Amino acid sequence: MLIRIAGLVPESFVDGDGIRFAIFMQGCRRNCEGCHNPETHDLNGGRLIDTSEIISAIKKNPLLDGITLTGGEPLLQIDAAEEIARAAKNFGLTVWCYTGYTFENLPPEAEPLLENVDVLIDGEFIESQRDLELQFRGSSNQRIIDVKKTLKQKKIVLLTEIGG
Ligand code: SF4
Repeated sequence: MLIRIAGLVPESFVDGDGIRFAIFMQGCRRNCEGCHNPETHDLNGGRLIDTSEIISAIKKNPLLDGITLTGGEPLLQIDAAEEIARAAKNFGLTVWCYTGYTFENLPPEAEPLLENVDVLIDGEFIESQRDLELQFRGSSNQRIIDVKKTLKQKKIVLLTEIGG
Protein backbone atom coordinates (compact mmCIF):
# COMPACT_ATOMS: atom_id res chain seq x y z
CA MET A 1 0.00 0.00 0.00
CA LEU A 2 1.22 3.50 -0.71
CA ILE A 3 2.04 5.91 2.07
CA ARG A 4 2.84 9.60 1.77
CA ILE A 5 5.87 10.50 3.84
CA ALA A 6 7.83 13.62 4.62
CA GLY A 7 10.89 11.51 5.37
CA LEU A 8 12.41 8.53 7.09
CA VAL A 9 15.07 8.44 9.79
CA PRO A 10 16.36 4.85 9.82
CA GLU A 11 18.11 5.21 13.19
CA SER A 12 16.68 7.91 15.41
CA PHE A 13 17.66 8.44 19.05
CA VAL A 14 15.23 11.29 19.74
CA ASP A 15 11.82 9.99 18.67
CA GLY A 16 11.26 7.65 21.59
CA ASP A 17 13.14 5.16 23.66
CA GLY A 18 16.27 3.51 22.24
CA ILE A 19 17.16 3.23 18.57
CA ARG A 20 14.08 3.72 16.44
CA PHE A 21 13.12 3.77 12.79
CA ALA A 22 11.15 7.01 12.55
CA ILE A 23 8.55 7.46 9.84
CA PHE A 24 7.57 11.09 9.34
CA MET A 25 4.18 10.86 7.70
CA GLN A 26 3.10 13.66 5.41
CA GLY A 27 -0.05 15.69 6.02
CA CYS A 28 -1.58 17.50 8.97
CA ARG A 29 -4.57 19.84 9.10
CA ARG A 30 -4.03 21.21 12.60
CA ASN A 31 -1.64 24.07 12.04
CA CYS A 32 -0.56 24.23 15.67
CA GLU A 33 1.15 27.52 16.34
CA GLY A 34 4.90 26.95 16.63
CA CYS A 35 4.78 23.50 14.97
CA HIS A 36 8.31 22.20 14.43
CA ASN A 37 7.53 20.39 11.21
CA PRO A 38 5.44 22.76 9.05
CA GLU A 39 6.82 21.13 5.90
CA THR A 40 4.83 18.01 6.84
CA HIS A 41 1.43 19.78 6.65
CA ASP A 42 0.70 19.77 2.91
CA LEU A 43 -1.56 16.78 2.26
CA ASN A 44 -0.10 16.51 -1.24
CA GLY A 45 3.49 17.19 -0.27
CA GLY A 46 6.30 14.81 0.57
CA ARG A 47 6.58 11.68 -1.51
CA LEU A 48 4.79 8.41 -1.99
CA ILE A 49 6.51 5.17 -1.08
CA ASP A 50 5.27 1.60 -0.74
CA THR A 51 4.82 0.42 2.83
CA SER A 52 6.64 -2.80 1.88
CA GLU A 53 9.83 -0.79 1.26
CA ILE A 54 9.64 0.67 4.75
CA ILE A 55 8.83 -2.69 6.31
CA SER A 56 11.79 -4.40 4.65
CA ALA A 57 14.15 -1.59 5.72
CA ILE A 58 12.92 -2.04 9.31
CA LYS A 59 13.35 -5.80 9.10
CA LYS A 60 16.93 -5.47 7.87
CA ASN A 61 18.22 -3.55 10.90
CA PRO A 62 18.90 -5.80 13.90
CA LEU A 63 19.90 -2.82 16.05
CA LEU A 64 16.44 -1.32 16.24
CA ASP A 65 14.47 -1.22 19.49
CA GLY A 66 11.37 -0.06 17.73
CA ILE A 67 9.67 2.23 15.27
CA THR A 68 8.01 5.60 15.67
CA LEU A 69 5.12 6.87 13.60
CA THR A 70 5.21 10.64 13.60
CA GLY A 71 4.59 13.52 11.25
CA GLY A 72 2.50 15.20 10.28
CA GLU A 73 -0.52 13.35 11.55
CA PRO A 74 -0.08 9.57 11.30
CA LEU A 75 -3.81 9.02 11.79
CA LEU A 76 -4.58 10.64 8.43
CA GLN A 77 -3.12 7.50 6.81
CA ILE A 78 -4.34 5.06 9.34
CA ASP A 79 -4.31 1.89 7.21
CA ALA A 80 -0.71 2.37 6.15
CA ALA A 81 0.30 3.23 9.70
CA GLU A 82 -1.41 0.10 10.98
CA GLU A 83 0.26 -2.12 8.38
CA ILE A 84 3.72 -0.87 9.34
CA ALA A 85 2.97 -1.03 13.06
CA ARG A 86 1.68 -4.60 12.79
CA ALA A 87 4.78 -5.70 10.86
CA ALA A 88 7.05 -4.06 13.43
CA LYS A 89 5.27 -5.83 16.26
CA ASN A 90 5.73 -9.12 14.41
CA PHE A 91 9.47 -8.39 14.27
CA GLY A 92 9.44 -8.01 18.07
CA LEU A 93 9.83 -4.23 18.01
CA THR A 94 8.04 -1.63 20.07
CA VAL A 95 5.80 0.89 18.35
CA TRP A 96 5.49 4.52 19.40
CA CYS A 97 3.01 6.81 17.69
CA TYR A 98 2.48 10.56 17.84
CA THR A 99 -0.90 12.10 17.17
CA GLY A 100 -2.58 15.47 17.46
CA TYR A 101 -5.72 13.72 18.74
CA THR A 102 -6.15 13.22 22.46
CA PHE A 103 -6.55 9.60 23.47
CA GLU A 104 -10.16 10.28 24.48
CA ASN A 105 -10.95 11.73 21.05
CA LEU A 106 -9.30 9.16 18.82
CA PRO A 107 -11.48 8.24 15.85
CA PRO A 108 -13.00 4.73 16.05
CA GLU A 109 -10.97 3.70 12.96
CA ALA A 110 -7.84 4.05 15.09
CA GLU A 111 -8.66 0.90 17.04
CA PRO A 112 -6.73 -1.64 14.90
CA LEU A 113 -3.73 0.69 14.86
CA LEU A 114 -3.93 1.13 18.61
CA GLU A 115 -3.76 -2.62 19.10
CA ASN A 116 -0.31 -2.48 17.54
CA VAL A 117 0.94 0.60 19.37
CA ASP A 118 2.79 0.41 22.70
CA VAL A 119 3.14 4.10 23.39
CA LEU A 120 0.98 6.96 22.16
CA ILE A 121 2.06 10.58 22.59
CA ASP A 122 -1.19 12.43 22.29
CA GLY A 123 -2.51 15.93 21.80
CA GLU A 124 -1.68 18.98 19.76
CA PHE A 125 1.43 20.98 20.34
CA ILE A 126 0.44 24.02 22.43
CA GLU A 127 3.08 26.71 22.25
CA SER A 128 2.10 28.35 25.57
CA GLN A 129 2.75 24.98 27.25
CA ARG A 130 6.02 24.39 25.47
CA ASP A 131 8.72 23.00 27.74
CA LEU A 132 12.20 22.20 26.48
CA GLU A 133 12.85 20.01 29.51
CA LEU A 134 10.21 17.48 28.47
CA GLN A 135 11.42 14.22 27.07
CA PHE A 136 9.86 13.05 23.78
CA ARG A 137 7.16 15.73 23.74
CA GLY A 138 6.98 19.40 22.96
CA SER A 139 4.34 20.76 25.33
CA SER A 140 3.17 19.70 28.76
CA ASN A 141 -0.42 18.96 27.66
CA GLN A 142 0.91 16.04 25.62
CA ARG A 143 1.02 12.70 27.41
CA ILE A 144 3.22 9.64 26.95
CA ILE A 145 0.58 6.94 27.25
CA ASP A 146 1.12 3.26 27.92
CA VAL A 147 -1.48 2.00 25.46
CA LYS A 148 -1.63 -1.64 26.59
CA LYS A 149 -2.25 -0.72 30.22
CA THR A 150 -4.66 2.04 29.25
CA LEU A 151 -6.79 -0.32 27.17
CA LYS A 152 -6.71 -2.97 29.89
CA GLN A 153 -7.51 -0.67 32.80
CA LYS A 154 -9.90 1.50 30.76
CA LYS A 155 -8.27 4.65 32.09
CA ILE A 156 -5.27 6.63 30.96
CA VAL A 157 -2.03 5.09 32.24
CA LEU A 158 1.09 7.08 31.58
CA LEU A 159 4.36 5.37 30.71
CA THR A 160 6.35 5.44 33.90
CA GLU A 161 9.55 3.74 32.85
CA ILE A 162 11.54 4.71 29.83
CA GLY A 163 14.50 2.54 29.03
CA GLY A 164 13.13 -0.59 30.65
S1 SF4 B 1 -0.35 18.12 15.11
FE1 SF4 B 1 1.90 18.00 15.05
S2 SF4 B 1 2.46 18.15 12.86
FE2 SF4 B 1 0.34 18.82 13.07
S3 SF4 B 1 0.49 21.06 13.23
FE3 SF4 B 1 0.39 20.20 15.32
S4 SF4 B 1 2.55 19.97 15.94
FE4 SF4 B 1 2.51 20.21 13.70
